[in-house]
Amino acid sequence: MSKADYYDTLGVARGADEKELKSAFRKMAMKYHPDRNPDDASAEAKFKEVGEAYEALKDPQKRAAYDRFGHAAFENGGGGGSPFGGGGAGGMGDIFEDIFGEMMGGRGGGGGGRQRGADLRYNMEISLEEAFEGKTAEIEIPTSITCDTCDGSGAKPGTSPTTCGTCGGVGQVRASQGFFSIQRTCPACQGRGEVIKDACDDCGGSGRKTQTKTLSVNVPAGIEDGTRIRLASEGEAGVRGGPQGDLYIFLSIEPHEFFQRDGADIYCRVPISMTTAALGGQFEVGTVEGKKANVKVPEGTQNGKQFRLRGKGMPVMRSSQQGDMYIQVAIETPSNLTKRQRELLTEFESESSADNSPESTSFFGRMKGFFDGLGE
Ligand SMILES: [Zn+2]
Ligand SMILES: [Zn+2]
Repeated sequence: MSKADYYDTLGVARGADEKELKSAFRKMAMKYHPDRNPDDASAEAKFKEVGEAYEALKDPQKRAAYDRFGHAAFENGGGGGSPFGGGGAGGMGDIFEDIFGEMMGGRGGGGGGRQRGADLRYNMEISLEEAFEGKTAEIEIPTSITCDTCDGSGAKPGTSPTTCGTCGGVGQVRASQGFFSIQRTCPACQGRGEVIKDACDDCGGSGRKTQTKTLSVNVPAGIEDGTRIRLASEGEAGVRGGPQGDLYIFLSIEPHEFFQRDGADIYCRVPISMTTAALGGQFEVGTVEGKKANVKVPEGTQNGKQFRLRGKGMPVMRSSQQGDMYIQVAIETPSNLTKRQRELLTEFESESSADNSPESTSFFGRMKGFFDGLGE
């Protein structure tokens, strides 16, 4: 089957530049477009040929190959070897995006000037105790809401927006250029399709106004610092009936004077006296749930020793589990000694044996071995 020459198909000279090619393609594509030639098989075939020709010639590499080898450049069979993928539907799709997308002026523009409202961010700080309990917080946010005076129409109550005379309410206007008719957003109504003669006094015709709105936010028990809570559609009102934005609550937890949190566990450092550590004793601590817990210190407790209070930590969200509380003791060395205390400690020292401080005895024993190994 002999194919028509690509240049002939587009009706351009062999030396045609890119611009000429493009404009010839537009002209031909519009002429044979299936929408304009319903049920015309020959027009459809021609339309495909036009697409194929343009596909080949718009690419400088493919065009050079075509100029040298003619159709043979693209007919290396299905087996491969062709440096160019088959034209086919995919290729046509690209062209349509190129040409028609641009022509229709429709680059991503949603119809009718509708616009989604902006998302809002609200920073909320709660205490660790509140994170433990969970709470319902009332927050006030300044936001733009749909004007209730005009119901968002922007027109003075009693009046209503009138159909735009320029576009007849479509929001788009067509401009003819030869074979083409190009669609644009209507300049008179910015795509709304209606115009407002008497603007609403409350919102100046925008259909939105700023108001402080009160929302209640459910903060679940056990929530973590840095959590983001999304309240769908609680952001700014959309423009011209567009959907509302979302509200994001960025939650942070205030540092606590006594407690550090690690996931569901709570850590608390407790200084105890040397004598309590040595003789044993007990002390009370407050827990995050606001109760008291008793901690027993056994005789001979070392510095840094950790005691676990099971189930006294934070609740784990969406479960009945609860973390633990860890008490870490820090032994305080006595200072500001009286003369008598100094005497007692000196006496204590003279009574001391290696058994009283096994760790220190062992350490210095090993260190001595290390020195001896070095040689003097
Ligand atoms: Zn209004
Ligand atoms: Zn209009």
